[in-house]
Amino acid sequence: MAVNDLKAFFQSNPLMALFSDEELDECVKASEVVEFAAGVDIEKRGETHNSSWIVYDGEVGVSIPGEGVTEELLTKLEKGRIFGDMSVFTGNLVAFDFKTTQPSTLVRIPRPVFMGVVKKNPAATLQFTKNLTEIVFHLGLYQKEHEIREAAMLASPDPYDLYFTSASEPMKISVINCGSSSLKYTIFDTTQRDPLIEGTIERIGSADAHHKVVTPTSKKSVSLGAVPNMEKAFEFMVAAISDPAVGAVRDVREFKAVGHRVTHGGGLFNGPVIIDDQVLEQIRSVSDLAPLHNPYNIEGIELFRKLLPGAKQVAVFDNTFHQTIPPAAATYALPRRLCAEERIRRYGFHGTNHEYVALNAATFLKKPLSELKMITCHLGSGASVCAIDHGRSIDTSMGMTPLEGLVMGTRPGDVDPGVIFHLLRKGRSAEELENIFNKDSGLKGISGLTNDMRELLAAAENGDAHALNAISVFCYRIKKYIGAYTVALGGLDVVVFTGGIGENSPEIRARIFQGFEAFGMTIDHRINRDARPERGQVVDIAEPNAKVRVLLIPADEERMIARNTLHTVGLVRSEADIRVFKTTPIPLSISAHHIHLTQENFELLFGRGKAMTPKSPLSQPGQFAAEETVNLIGPKGNLEKVRILGPARKYSQLEISRTEQFKLGIDPPIRDSGDIEGTPGITVVGSQGQIHLEKGVICAKRHIHMSTDDALKFGLRDKDVVRVRKEGGRGLIFGDVLIRVDQNFRLDMHLDTDEGNAAEIKPGDTGYIESIEHRRYI
Ligand code: AMP
Repeated sequence: MAVNDLKAFFQSNPLMALFSDEELDECVKASEVVEFAAGVDIEKRGETHNSSWIVYDGEVGVSIPGEGVTEELLTKLEKGRIFGDMSVFTGNLVAFDFKTTQPSTLVRIPRPVFMGVVKKNPAATLQFTKNLTEIVFHLGLYQKEHEIREAAMLASPDPYDLYFTSASEPMKISVINCGSSSLKYTIFDTTQRDPLIEGTIERIGSADAHHKVVTPTSKKSVSLGAVPNMEKAFEFMVAAISDPAVGAVRDVREFKAVGHRVTHGGGLFNGPVIIDDQVLEQIRSVSDLAPLHNPYNIEGIELFRKLLPGAKQVAVFDNTFHQTIPPAAATYALPRRLCAEERIRRYGFHGTNHEYVALNAATFLKKPLSELKMITCHLGSGASVCAIDHGRSIDTSMGMTPLEGLVMGTRPGDVDPGVIFHLLRKGRSAEELENIFNKDSGLKGISGLTNDMRELLAAAENGDAHALNAISVFCYRIKKYIGAYTVALGGLDVVVFTGGIGENSPEIRARIFQGFEAFGMTIDHRINRDARPERGQVVDIAEPNAKVRVLLIPADEERMIARNTLHTVGLVRSEADIRVFKTTPIPLSISAHHIHLTQENFELLFGRGKAMTPKSPLSQPGQFAAEETVNLIGPKGNLEKVRILGPARKYSQLEISRTEQFKLGIDPPIRDSGDIEGTPGITVVGSQGQIHLEKGVICAKRHIHMSTDDALKFGLRDKDVVRVRKEGGRGLIFGDVLIRVDQNFRLDMHLDTDEGNAAEIKPGDTGYIESIEHRRYI
């Protein structure tokens, strides 16, 4: 290639165009033009790297080889693209495989020359850094689908960031849990595994308050005398955490973020939020749903806002993890209007710990959460059980308040509400009943002895019939819920025990598991007896060949609150990013019911050798509505003329709305497209035949398709979850909107007919991204 051609080629590159004439000459002189056949490895992952390459002609494929994972092409580099620069810059090993996909001509520039020029030239350095950021970002985006995610999961010791590996800089985070007469605080340093300090001040408001302080090297408990109020308790907390002997912080102003445990979000929040005046007002507005908790949580938030006006305060709710529970499980069969007016529905609690143990279980089993069906049993003084389908809570035993569900230390769990009316008629007051239900029932009520499971087990051992009955009722209720939730989940991979009783009592676990053998759920009694997991450890007590894993995972709400606080603070975006959200409309489309078919299924329905006939193109490039339609036969009713969307896919999948579920008589879960394991099937009828799909019916999770370029512009990644605002007559905000990124996608948000009708969406309507709700870590 002529020298001048090469120089002109370099100048056409946005980075090298910033080089001076002499710098370009220097690069041309050192360059080597090399021709490669197709399929030649240019750079291999893991090797040291000494060159920068520019594609002059042809194409280079970039892929990640994974252990036990088929190689997946992440992206293709065409004419003008520089590669190899990331490792050239950092001196690290090559991160990806680079291989020609066709005969190609590449220009090689030795690292010292290329970097020498970049380093000398500030404009080029800036552009270079920008390129790198884009590469990192793009490659992140291209790491598609679960094969790659699974490889990342298998490779990462902390795939769900429970140990803050995502923290961009060292940070101290304080976690606060204010109750009516107690203050619990925990300080984490994102560079360390264990908390720096954990403290509890109890009996606030009495003349005899107590302060327990635990550090990695010490434990002490001191009497504080009279602590009249929370403000005074805060002074003791500040003194303890800034004690030079402990060394947690030199000055409390070091905290950049404070996570507050808030009991009830009242359905107003989908996840943790940064607290501002409006959020505080919203939390206050739902305090009547948790009068024994929210007012004290608010008091703690207000005190901390005064103490640390510069820190970000984050509310982490006990029930937002359960926001995904479908209406069938969340609705009480009471008058609809009354429920709407009074916000009566099932909200669930212990969400922070249910989520924490679920993430831990996936990490321990080295499986993505999105592939597991789990039942998590939080058995402490308060107790609840949760059904988690592919990472989403789909049912939990606590309801509008923590009274419903399992038998607890002093609460009864499920009781016929008629009992309450009976007692009211007998002259008991509402306050009296509330007291009985919250403080005198459950294990304590049945046994007449104590709410402490250890004492009950000892009493039962000594022949106390009431203690034994309390234990039996407690275990039977849990067994009943596990059975029910196994069916609700349509299968089961994991049961988790957590909480004081769940973690520590082999007797209780063994009792619960009696009778489950027929369902492939068997525990190894020796391991169960000996298991004593410490916080941060996981023990599997299932028999080695059992179908269902049974894990003991010590509760650690504080760590989860700190992690969620870190993530929420990390989601705060720059003004510039928010401007992009506010000024970039997202087209809104309603996806009526439709079906995707494999070629094989299509041929069974329409005849051998037949292919789908494109009728009209869809918004996503290459996709089309086919001329062909199918009829669906459900257990209850039929749906006719359901459009096939082409081209043929690797799996067959039917997407219907909630209303149509009813018509067909099936109950599919809300799932991401392609995630069809454990979903119901359906009979499909074509012009030439009929098939029964064993699985594949879903209610598609609302989502936005976007190209990699759009994702870059928005600063979003594949699998992020956002909120989208649609304005107008029946404007509303859609939460839980999944971002799906692919280089071939076109910007478009897909809603089903029910969702579209709720917001009266017409063709041509648009929405705006309001905020990022949460991000996936694998
Ligand atoms: P939590 O609210 O999670 O702290 O759990 C408190 C409950 O766990 C109480 O009922 C305790 O009696 C119970 N617990 C703690 N240790 C044990 C143990 N070794 N065996 C049985 N129950 C226990």
